[in-house]
Amino acid sequence: MKNYRIAVLKGDGIGPEIVGEAIKVLDLTAEKCGFTVEYDEALLGGCAIDATGVPLPDETVAKCKAADSTLLGAVGGPKWDTLPGHLRPEKGLLGIRAALGLFANLRPARIFEPLRDASPLRADIIGGSLDIMVVRELTGGIYFGERGRLEENGVKAAYDTEKYSVPEIDRIARIAFDLAMKRGKKVCSVDKANVLESSRLWRETVTEIAKDYPEVELSYMYVDNCAMQLVRNPSQFDVVLTSNIFGDILSDEASMISGSIGMLASASLGATGSGLYEPIHGSAPDIAGQNIANPLATILSVAMMLKYSLGQPQASDMIEKAVAGVLTEVRTPDIYVEGFRKVSCTEMGDAVCDKIRAM
Ligand code: NAD
Repeated sequence: MKNYRIAVLKGDGIGPEIVGEAIKVLDLTAEKCGFTVEYDEALLGGCAIDATGVPLPDETVAKCKAADSTLLGAVGGPKWDTLPGHLRPEKGLLGIRAALGLFANLRPARIFEPLRDASPLRADIIGGSLDIMVVRELTGGIYFGERGRLEENGVKAAYDTEKYSVPEIDRIARIAFDLAMKRGKKVCSVDKANVLESSRLWRETVTEIAKDYPEVELSYMYVDNCAMQLVRNPSQFDVVLTSNIFGDILSDEASMISGSIGMLASASLGATGSGLYEPIHGSAPDIAGQNIANPLATILSVAMMLKYSLGQPQASDMIEKAVAGVLTEVRTPDIYVEGFRKVSCTEMGDAVCDKIRAM
Protein backbone atom coordinates (compact mmCIF):
# COMPACT_ATOMS: atom_id res chain seq x y z
CA MET A 1 0.00 0.00 0.00
CA LYS A 2 1.35 3.42 -0.96
CA ASN A 3 2.40 5.51 2.04
CA TYR A 4 2.96 9.28 2.00
CA ARG A 5 4.91 11.32 4.50
CA ILE A 6 3.45 14.79 5.08
CA ALA A 7 5.21 17.55 7.00
CA VAL A 8 2.62 19.44 9.03
CA LEU A 9 3.17 23.07 10.06
CA LYS A 10 0.10 24.02 12.08
CA GLY A 11 1.41 27.50 12.87
CA ASP A 12 -0.44 30.05 14.97
CA GLY A 13 -3.94 31.35 15.72
CA ILE A 14 -6.56 29.18 14.01
CA GLY A 15 -3.77 27.15 12.33
CA PRO A 16 -3.97 24.14 14.68
CA GLU A 17 -7.80 24.07 14.49
CA ILE A 18 -8.09 24.13 10.68
CA VAL A 19 -5.15 21.78 10.09
CA GLY A 20 -6.67 19.30 12.56
CA GLU A 21 -9.83 19.12 10.44
CA ALA A 22 -7.84 18.82 7.20
CA ILE A 23 -5.89 15.86 8.63
CA LYS A 24 -9.13 14.20 9.74
CA VAL A 25 -10.44 14.47 6.16
CA LEU A 26 -7.16 13.29 4.62
CA ASP A 27 -6.99 10.21 6.88
CA LEU A 28 -10.51 9.15 5.93
CA THR A 29 -9.91 9.81 2.22
CA ALA A 30 -6.71 7.74 2.37
CA GLU A 31 -8.61 4.86 3.98
CA LYS A 32 -11.30 5.04 1.28
CA CYS A 33 -8.80 5.23 -1.58
CA GLY A 34 -6.32 2.63 -0.31
CA PHE A 35 -3.23 4.54 0.74
CA THR A 36 -1.76 5.63 4.06
CA VAL A 37 -0.41 8.93 5.37
CA GLU A 38 2.18 9.59 8.07
CA TYR A 39 2.56 13.03 9.60
CA ASP A 40 5.67 14.78 10.80
CA GLU A 41 4.83 17.92 12.78
CA ALA A 42 7.20 20.88 12.84
CA LEU A 43 7.22 24.45 14.10
CA LEU A 44 6.87 27.58 11.95
CA GLY A 45 6.06 31.20 12.78
CA GLY A 46 5.14 32.50 16.21
CA CYS A 47 5.01 29.06 17.86
CA ALA A 48 8.56 28.42 16.58
CA ILE A 49 9.75 31.78 17.95
CA ASP A 50 8.31 30.91 21.36
CA ALA A 51 9.90 27.46 21.42
CA THR A 52 13.24 28.06 19.71
CA GLY A 53 13.76 31.83 19.33
CA VAL A 54 13.57 31.77 15.52
CA PRO A 55 10.54 31.63 13.13
CA LEU A 56 12.03 28.87 10.96
CA PRO A 57 14.13 26.30 12.85
CA ASP A 58 16.54 24.16 10.78
CA GLU A 59 14.66 21.07 11.93
CA THR A 60 11.51 22.35 10.20
CA VAL A 61 13.34 22.81 6.90
CA ALA A 62 14.81 19.30 7.19
CA LYS A 63 11.40 17.74 7.91
CA CYS A 64 9.76 19.53 4.95
CA LYS A 65 12.58 18.51 2.61
CA ALA A 66 12.25 14.88 3.69
CA ALA A 67 8.47 14.84 3.19
CA ASP A 68 6.41 14.03 0.10
CA SER A 69 4.57 17.29 0.67
CA THR A 70 3.97 19.99 3.28
CA LEU A 71 0.69 21.21 4.77
CA LEU A 72 0.68 24.62 6.43
CA GLY A 73 -2.02 26.32 8.52
CA ALA A 74 -1.18 30.00 9.00
CA VAL A 75 1.34 32.04 10.97
CA GLY A 76 1.45 35.30 12.85
CA GLY A 77 -0.44 37.22 15.47
CA PRO A 78 -0.30 40.35 17.65
CA LYS A 79 1.97 38.65 20.19
CA TRP A 80 4.88 38.75 17.71
CA ASP A 81 4.06 42.02 15.90
CA THR A 82 6.61 44.09 17.78
CA LEU A 83 9.59 41.81 17.15
CA PRO A 84 12.29 43.02 14.73
CA GLY A 85 11.73 42.11 11.04
CA HIS A 86 14.08 39.12 10.88
CA LEU A 87 12.34 37.54 13.88
CA ARG A 88 8.76 37.99 12.66
CA PRO A 89 6.57 34.92 11.91
CA GLU A 90 6.18 36.05 8.25
CA LYS A 91 9.94 35.72 7.86
CA GLY A 92 9.50 32.01 8.55
CA LEU A 93 6.94 31.78 5.76
CA LEU A 94 9.22 33.44 3.20
CA GLY A 95 12.10 31.35 4.51
CA ILE A 96 10.41 27.99 4.06
CA ARG A 97 9.28 28.90 0.51
CA ALA A 98 12.88 29.85 -0.34
CA ALA A 99 14.38 26.78 1.36
CA LEU A 100 12.10 24.47 -0.62
CA GLY A 101 12.83 26.32 -3.90
CA LEU A 102 9.15 27.00 -4.54
CA PHE A 103 8.94 29.10 -7.71
CA ALA A 104 5.31 28.60 -8.71
CA ASN A 105 2.30 29.82 -6.79
CA LEU A 106 -1.04 28.28 -7.72
CA ARG A 107 -4.11 30.19 -6.64
CA PRO A 108 -7.46 28.74 -7.64
CA ALA A 109 -10.43 31.11 -7.70
CA ARG A 110 -13.64 29.19 -8.01
CA ILE A 111 -17.22 29.58 -7.01
CA PHE A 112 -18.97 26.70 -5.36
CA GLU A 113 -22.52 26.81 -6.65
CA PRO A 114 -24.18 27.09 -3.19
CA LEU A 115 -21.94 30.11 -2.40
CA ARG A 116 -22.73 32.01 -5.58
CA ASP A 117 -24.53 34.73 -3.59
CA ALA A 118 -21.37 35.42 -1.57
CA SER A 119 -19.60 36.75 -4.67
CA PRO A 120 -19.46 40.53 -5.04
CA LEU A 121 -20.16 39.99 -8.77
CA ARG A 122 -23.69 39.72 -10.19
CA ALA A 123 -24.82 36.23 -11.14
CA ASP A 124 -25.13 37.20 -14.83
CA ILE A 125 -21.49 38.37 -14.84
CA ILE A 126 -20.22 35.18 -13.19
CA GLY A 127 -21.99 33.17 -15.87
CA GLY A 128 -22.30 29.38 -15.86
CA SER A 129 -19.36 28.39 -13.71
CA LEU A 130 -16.15 29.95 -12.51
CA ASP A 131 -12.93 28.03 -12.00
CA ILE A 132 -9.76 30.03 -12.61
CA MET A 133 -6.22 28.98 -11.73
CA VAL A 134 -3.76 31.84 -11.42
CA VAL A 135 -0.16 30.62 -11.84
CA ARG A 136 2.19 33.23 -10.45
CA GLU A 137 5.99 33.19 -10.75
CA LEU A 138 7.20 33.41 -7.17
CA THR A 139 10.95 33.88 -6.98
CA GLY A 140 11.90 36.29 -9.76
CA GLY A 141 10.99 39.63 -11.31
CA ILE A 142 10.86 43.02 -9.65
CA TYR A 143 10.51 41.70 -6.08
CA PHE A 144 13.96 40.14 -6.38
CA GLY A 145 15.63 42.42 -8.95
CA GLU A 146 18.28 45.02 -8.36
CA ARG A 147 16.98 48.03 -6.44
CA GLY A 148 18.40 51.11 -4.93
CA ARG A 149 18.24 54.77 -4.07
CA LEU A 150 20.19 57.57 -5.68
CA GLU A 151 20.34 61.30 -5.93
CA GLU A 152 20.24 63.05 -9.31
CA ASN A 153 21.00 66.75 -9.35
CA GLY A 154 20.01 66.98 -5.71
CA VAL A 155 16.70 65.13 -6.28
CA LYS A 156 16.11 61.85 -4.44
CA ALA A 157 15.16 58.88 -6.63
CA ALA A 158 14.66 55.12 -6.24
CA TYR A 159 14.45 52.19 -8.65
CA ASP A 160 13.48 48.51 -8.78
CA THR A 161 14.33 46.22 -11.67
CA GLU A 162 12.07 43.71 -13.41
CA LYS A 163 14.31 41.00 -14.85
CA TYR A 164 13.44 37.52 -16.09
CA SER A 165 15.65 34.89 -17.71
CA VAL A 166 14.45 32.34 -20.25
CA PRO A 167 14.88 29.37 -17.83
CA GLU A 168 12.80 31.19 -15.19
CA ILE A 169 9.98 31.80 -17.68
CA ASP A 170 10.32 28.33 -19.17
CA ARG A 171 9.81 26.47 -15.88
CA ILE A 172 6.79 28.51 -14.73
CA ALA A 173 5.20 28.30 -18.20
CA ARG A 174 5.53 24.50 -18.16
CA ILE A 175 3.74 24.37 -14.79
CA ALA A 176 0.88 26.40 -16.31
CA PHE A 177 0.65 24.27 -19.45
CA ASP A 178 0.82 21.01 -17.47
CA LEU A 179 -2.01 22.28 -15.27
CA ALA A 180 -4.06 23.34 -18.27
CA MET A 181 -3.77 19.80 -19.64
CA LYS A 182 -5.45 18.54 -16.45
CA ARG A 183 -8.15 21.24 -16.64
CA GLY A 184 -9.77 23.24 -19.45
CA LYS A 185 -6.71 23.20 -21.80
CA LYS A 186 -6.51 26.99 -22.01
CA VAL A 187 -3.61 29.25 -20.91
CA CYS A 188 -3.83 33.04 -20.91
CA SER A 189 -0.36 34.56 -20.50
CA VAL A 190 -0.60 37.98 -18.91
CA ASP A 191 2.09 40.61 -19.41
CA LYS A 192 2.75 44.21 -20.40
CA ALA A 193 4.55 43.45 -23.67
CA ASN A 194 3.45 46.73 -25.24
CA VAL A 195 5.79 48.54 -22.81
CA LEU A 196 8.18 46.20 -20.98
CA GLU A 197 11.13 44.40 -22.57
CA SER A 198 10.97 41.71 -19.86
CA SER A 199 7.35 41.08 -20.92
CA ARG A 200 8.40 40.73 -24.56
CA LEU A 201 10.90 38.02 -23.59
CA TRP A 202 8.18 36.44 -21.42
CA ARG A 203 5.81 36.33 -24.40
CA GLU A 204 8.45 34.94 -26.81
CA THR A 205 9.38 32.20 -24.35
CA VAL A 206 5.79 31.21 -23.58
CA THR A 207 5.09 31.02 -27.33
CA GLU A 208 8.00 28.58 -27.73
CA ILE A 209 6.88 26.39 -24.79
CA ALA A 210 3.34 26.27 -26.21
CA LYS A 211 4.68 24.27 -29.19
CA ASP A 212 5.19 21.34 -26.79
CA TYR A 213 1.52 21.51 -25.81
CA PRO A 214 -0.43 21.47 -29.10
CA GLU A 215 -3.69 20.64 -27.30
CA VAL A 216 -3.56 23.79 -25.16
CA GLU A 217 -5.06 26.99 -26.53
CA LEU A 218 -2.70 29.89 -25.72
CA SER A 219 -3.82 33.50 -25.60
CA TYR A 220 -2.09 36.69 -24.44
CA MET A 221 -3.50 39.61 -22.51
CA TYR A 222 -2.07 42.86 -21.18
CA VAL A 223 -2.25 43.03 -17.41
CA ASP A 224 -4.46 46.14 -17.36
CA ASN A 225 -6.99 44.44 -19.63
CA CYS A 226 -6.83 41.26 -17.51
CA ALA A 227 -7.65 43.25 -14.36
CA MET A 228 -10.77 44.49 -16.15
CA GLN A 229 -11.72 41.16 -17.72
CA LEU A 230 -11.59 39.39 -14.34
CA VAL A 231 -14.56 41.44 -13.15
CA ARG A 232 -16.23 41.84 -16.55
CA ASN A 233 -16.19 38.28 -17.88
CA PRO A 234 -14.26 36.02 -15.45
CA SER A 235 -15.51 32.71 -16.82
CA GLN A 236 -13.43 33.20 -20.02
CA PHE A 237 -10.31 32.18 -18.04
CA ASP A 238 -8.94 28.73 -17.29
CA VAL A 239 -5.23 29.03 -16.39
CA VAL A 240 -3.79 32.54 -16.05
CA LEU A 241 0.02 32.53 -16.29
CA THR A 242 1.87 35.60 -15.10
CA SER A 243 4.90 37.17 -13.43
CA ASN A 244 5.51 37.73 -9.73
CA ILE A 245 4.20 41.29 -9.37
CA PHE A 246 1.26 40.94 -11.79
CA GLY A 247 0.33 37.62 -10.19
CA ASP A 248 0.45 39.11 -6.72
CA ILE A 249 -2.24 41.61 -7.68
CA LEU A 250 -4.34 39.51 -10.06
CA SER A 251 -4.52 36.46 -7.76
CA ASP A 252 -5.95 38.60 -4.97
CA GLU A 253 -8.43 40.17 -7.36
CA ALA A 254 -9.47 36.77 -8.75
CA SER A 255 -9.83 35.20 -5.32
CA MET A 256 -12.20 37.91 -4.12
CA ILE A 257 -14.66 36.91 -6.82
CA SER A 258 -15.35 33.76 -4.79
CA GLY A 259 -16.55 35.97 -1.94
CA SER A 260 -15.14 34.12 1.06
CA ILE A 261 -11.60 34.10 2.38
CA GLY A 262 -12.27 30.92 4.38
CA MET A 263 -12.76 28.92 1.16
CA LEU A 264 -9.56 29.66 -0.73
CA ALA A 265 -6.71 27.17 -1.04
CA SER A 266 -3.26 27.61 -2.56
CA ALA A 267 -0.18 25.66 -3.54
CA SER A 268 3.44 26.57 -4.06
CA LEU A 269 5.46 24.21 -6.22
CA GLY A 270 9.15 23.80 -6.95
CA ALA A 271 11.33 21.60 -9.10
CA THR A 272 10.72 18.47 -6.99
CA GLY A 273 6.93 18.66 -7.15
CA SER A 274 6.54 18.02 -3.42
CA GLY A 275 5.03 21.46 -2.79
CA LEU A 276 3.65 23.48 0.09
CA TYR A 277 -0.11 23.67 0.50
CA GLU A 278 -1.92 26.28 2.58
CA PRO A 279 -5.10 28.35 2.80
CA ILE A 280 -4.67 31.92 1.53
CA HIS A 281 -6.05 33.46 4.71
CA GLY A 282 -4.02 34.35 7.78
CA SER A 283 -4.06 33.07 11.34
CA ALA A 284 -7.26 35.01 12.23
CA PRO A 285 -6.24 35.79 15.84
CA ASP A 286 -9.64 37.44 16.40
CA ILE A 287 -11.39 34.05 16.30
CA ALA A 288 -8.57 31.69 17.36
CA GLY A 289 -9.38 29.07 19.99
CA GLN A 290 -13.15 29.45 19.60
CA ASN A 291 -13.73 26.48 17.26
CA ILE A 292 -15.57 28.72 14.77
CA ALA A 293 -12.99 29.04 11.97
CA ASN A 294 -13.85 27.74 8.53
CA PRO A 295 -11.56 24.75 7.81
CA LEU A 296 -12.63 24.37 4.16
CA ALA A 297 -9.73 26.37 2.64
CA THR A 298 -7.29 24.02 4.39
CA ILE A 299 -9.31 20.95 3.45
CA LEU A 300 -9.29 22.15 -0.18
CA SER A 301 -5.53 22.69 0.11
CA VAL A 302 -5.27 18.98 0.93
CA ALA A 303 -7.35 18.25 -2.18
CA MET A 304 -4.82 20.26 -4.22
CA MET A 305 -1.94 18.36 -2.60
CA LEU A 306 -3.50 15.03 -3.56
CA LYS A 307 -3.91 16.17 -7.15
CA TYR A 308 -0.68 18.06 -7.80
CA SER A 309 1.91 16.43 -5.54
CA LEU A 310 0.73 12.98 -4.50
CA GLY A 311 -0.78 11.76 -7.76
CA GLN A 312 -4.14 10.85 -6.20
CA PRO A 313 -6.67 12.73 -8.38
CA GLN A 314 -9.55 10.46 -7.40
CA ALA A 315 -9.03 11.22 -3.69
CA SER A 316 -8.79 14.90 -4.55
CA ASP A 317 -12.09 14.84 -6.46
CA MET A 318 -13.71 13.04 -3.53
CA ILE A 319 -12.80 15.89 -1.16
CA GLU A 320 -13.89 18.60 -3.59
CA LYS A 321 -17.25 16.89 -4.14
CA ALA A 322 -17.71 16.47 -0.38
CA VAL A 323 -17.02 20.19 0.19
CA ALA A 324 -19.51 21.17 -2.52
CA GLY A 325 -22.00 18.80 -0.89
CA VAL A 326 -21.73 20.13 2.67
CA LEU A 327 -22.20 23.71 1.51
CA THR A 328 -25.81 22.91 0.64
CA GLU A 329 -26.46 21.97 4.28
CA VAL A 330 -24.10 23.49 6.84
CA ARG A 331 -22.10 26.69 7.22
CA THR A 332 -19.46 28.03 9.58
CA PRO A 333 -20.26 31.55 10.87
CA ASP A 334 -18.14 33.34 8.20
CA ILE A 335 -20.30 31.98 5.35
CA TYR A 336 -23.53 31.52 7.29
CA VAL A 337 -26.83 32.68 5.81
CA GLU A 338 -30.36 31.90 6.96
CA GLY A 339 -31.72 28.52 5.95
CA PHE A 340 -28.53 26.59 6.72
CA ARG A 341 -27.35 24.87 9.90
CA LYS A 342 -24.63 26.87 11.62
CA VAL A 343 -21.72 24.62 12.60
CA SER A 344 -18.36 24.85 14.35
CA CYS A 345 -14.94 24.19 12.82
CA THR A 346 -14.91 20.57 14.03
CA GLU A 347 -18.53 19.99 12.96
CA MET A 348 -17.64 21.24 9.48
CA GLY A 349 -14.76 18.74 9.35
CA ASP A 350 -17.15 16.00 10.51
CA ALA A 351 -19.70 16.99 7.86
CA VAL A 352 -17.07 16.69 5.09
CA CYS A 353 -16.08 13.26 6.49
CA ASP A 354 -19.72 12.13 6.52
CA LYS A 355 -20.04 13.04 2.83
CA ILE A 356 -16.86 11.13 1.99
CA ARG A 357 -18.01 8.11 4.00
CA ALA A 358 -21.25 8.08 2.01
CA MET A 359 -19.43 8.03 -1.38
P1 NAD B 1 -6.62 37.01 8.32
O1 NAD B 1 -6.78 36.33 7.00
O2 NAD B 1 -6.01 36.21 9.39
O3 NAD B 1 -8.05 37.51 8.83
C1 NAD B 1 -8.85 38.45 8.12
C2 NAD B 1 -10.34 38.29 8.55
O4 NAD B 1 -10.83 37.08 7.97
C3 NAD B 1 -10.50 38.14 10.07
O5 NAD B 1 -11.70 38.77 10.45
C4 NAD B 1 -10.61 36.64 10.28
O6 NAD B 1 -11.37 36.29 11.41
C5 NAD B 1 -11.28 36.18 8.99
N1 NAD B 1 -10.86 34.82 8.61
C6 NAD B 1 -9.66 34.46 8.09
N2 NAD B 1 -9.61 33.14 7.91
C7 NAD B 1 -10.79 32.66 8.33
C8 NAD B 1 -11.36 31.35 8.41
N3 NAD B 1 -10.68 30.25 8.01
N4 NAD B 1 -12.60 31.21 8.92
C9 NAD B 1 -13.31 32.27 9.32
N5 NAD B 1 -12.84 33.54 9.26
C10 NAD B 1 -11.59 33.73 8.78
O7 NAD B 1 -5.78 38.34 8.03
P2 NAD B 1 -5.21 39.42 9.08
O8 NAD B 1 -6.21 39.64 10.16
O9 NAD B 1 -4.79 40.54 8.24
O10 NAD B 1 -3.92 38.77 9.68
C11 NAD B 1 -3.86 38.07 10.92
C12 NAD B 1 -2.47 37.48 11.10
O11 NAD B 1 -2.24 36.51 10.08
C13 NAD B 1 -1.35 38.51 10.96
O12 NAD B 1 -0.36 38.21 11.92
C14 NAD B 1 -0.83 38.29 9.56
O13 NAD B 1 0.52 38.67 9.42
C15 NAD B 1 -1.01 36.80 9.41
N6 NAD B 1 -1.13 36.34 8.02
C16 NAD B 1 -0.58 35.12 7.76
C17 NAD B 1 -0.73 34.57 6.50
C18 NAD B 1 -0.15 33.21 6.26
O14 NAD B 1 0.19 32.51 7.21
N7 NAD B 1 -0.06 32.76 5.02
C19 NAD B 1 -1.42 35.24 5.50
C20 NAD B 1 -1.99 36.47 5.81
C21 NAD B 1 -1.86 37.01 7.09
